[in-house]
Amino acid sequence: MSNMQYDYIIKYIIIGDSGVGKLSNSVEFGARFVNVEDKRIKLQIWDTAGQESFRSITRNYYRGAVGALLVYDITRRETFEHLLMWLEDARQHSTSKTTYMLIGNKCDLEGKRAVSYEEGEAFARQRGLFFMETSAKTSANVEEAFVNIAHDIHEKI
Ligand code: GDP
Repeated sequence: MSNMQYDYIIKYIIIGDSGVGKLSNSVEFGARFVNVEDKRIKLQIWDTAGQESFRSITRNYYRGAVGALLVYDITRRETFEHLLMWLEDARQHSTSKTTYMLIGNKCDLEGKRAVSYEEGEAFARQRGLFFMETSAKTSANVEEAFVNIAHDIHEKI
């Protein structure tokens, strides 16, 4: 089977404030394949392409999303403070089966950290989300986050 062929496409979306690294993460995660038994599944990551600044993310964006990556920037506290708003908006627009993964991005910038690991973890734990800190720049933990996504897909197929 060639690399381009697949049996299913699974849609994941990325949400969060502008500049947190959504585009960078979608490049890291996008166009990957997951094998489940004899099926080959293409992971398709949608990102908001800048629309987040207009708060105009449509229902169409959320429709059919198996999972959502909720991204903040560990060096910009306000991006963490806006998470609840993003989560509420996403939950309003998607089904109860959507899996949410909280991603604290830019963990390579330790010296500029404005949100502790524990705060991110507590936010996620209280709301039953997966949690990871990643760096799209150094690829730190990107593989681990992808493994979590693959597990989620395994459970749902
Ligand atoms: P978006 O607006 O959420 O899609 O964010 P982008 O993916 O466009 O990233 C915004 C800026 O942050 C860009 O200059 C990226 O190069 C930079 N960036 C993204 N991820 C990381 C990261 O993990 N570490 C560092 N240091 N910079 C990052």
